[in-house]
Amino acid sequence: MFQNVLAIHSACSCGKKHPLLTKECVVSKEAALAMRDYIAANNFRRPLIVADENTVVFAENLLARFPAAKAVVDGHAHATEVYVAEVESVIDAEKPDVLIACGSGSVHDITRYCAKEKGLPFLSYPTAASVDGFVSGVAAMTWHGQKLTFPSVPPLACFADPEVFSSAPERLTASGVGDVLGKWVSLFDWRVGQILTGEPVCEEIFALEAEAVSEAADAVRSRSVMSREAYTEKIMNALLISGLTIQLNETSRPASGAEHHLSHLWEMHRINEKNDGLHGEQVAVGMLAAVRRYDAELSKGIDYEKLASPDLAKTMCREDLLPVFRELTDGILRENLPDGTLASSSLAKIRVTGDTDERIRRAAEEVPKPEEIEALLHAAGTPTSPADIGLDDSPEFIEKSLRYAPYVRNRLTLLKALTAAKKL
Ligand SMILES: [Zn+2]
Repeated sequence: MFQNVLAIHSACSCGKKHPLLTKECVVSKEAALAMRDYIAANNFRRPLIVADENTVVFAENLLARFPAAKAVVDGHAHATEVYVAEVESVIDAEKPDVLIACGSGSVHDITRYCAKEKGLPFLSYPTAASVDGFVSGVAAMTWHGQKLTFPSVPPLACFADPEVFSSAPERLTASGVGDVLGKWVSLFDWRVGQILTGEPVCEEIFALEAEAVSEAADAVRSRSVMSREAYTEKIMNALLISGLTIQLNETSRPASGAEHHLSHLWEMHRINEKNDGLHGEQVAVGMLAAVRRYDAELSKGIDYEKLASPDLAKTMCREDLLPVFRELTDGILRENLPDGTLASSSLAKIRVTGDTDERIRRAAEEVPKPEEIEALLHAAGTPTSPADIGLDDSPEFIEKSLRYAPYVRNRLTLLKALTAAKKL
């Protein structure tokens, strides 16, 4: 599938030029060797490997192939300013010309952030199939206690060794499955954005992401007859393709919809205490909640008269948001009304025509039924209920989550449109 990524980058049928920084992506037992060759071919002379205590053992695979310095942070490294400072002091001492992220999501975020700060390129050596962010251009950090995302740089190349990443704890792979299967909802919401607001969709990027999800789902279906290594490799491939679609599309639209908004809301701790769910686990739980809601609303029939109402955007107001978002309310309002007027809300851009319902139903046919998704998540060992990840399991909590999650981003999702319509 990586060939398809390169093809879309070099010439896309949609006529748009899609940028791609990560021009090489190798998933193979020869990954360390391929990285050595890449470093030599690109005249890098002073690589610095960034790892944590759990992944430093894999840095040895690389050090057996080529000389490098290393920076090792604490084993429970969340990407914070403390670890960034640690790595930057090693960078100042070692003066590397390229960084290598050897680890899971947090090590990548720390490395990516330092690479941007120090103006250095970086290479990715993922050690678990846990998230789709290895090849993305955004660093998710906890900065002085606050969760923030920083614009950053994607890696120049990614080298992933199945022997390495399939030896990661199974919980990480199961979480990766949640992150990938969640794209069923992301893609559906992207299509809804196109149908309701005329938002552009590149069909080639859309098809590539859909293929990645479908291959991951096939892998889960045949997990019992596959080796752990072959299975994890399929999940890793899907995660990498998903990250690359974000690079190509220049936004996370192909890979983030209502399911990610639910996960973001829970990470903001507005309606729940801090919980210990991994990113992909929260996405899995969010996806099921979203799919169940979509399924129910489509069976009942959507009220398009309300969706077409000129008052739809007015349903989002400070009085409604304040009790939940509290001191974050101003930020939420700025996100949803980027130029300060209701016209800049994605809800204000909705147009309904005679074939809207038919088009939305056709798009929904691409999403499996909630029961099927739940069975797949079970087969992958991925959490499915809020209680599995330390959240409240009551219908009231799910309802509240579905009601407020759409406001964490201005991006239109069917959930956002339905939530607004309900308030009219
Ligand atoms: Zn295109």
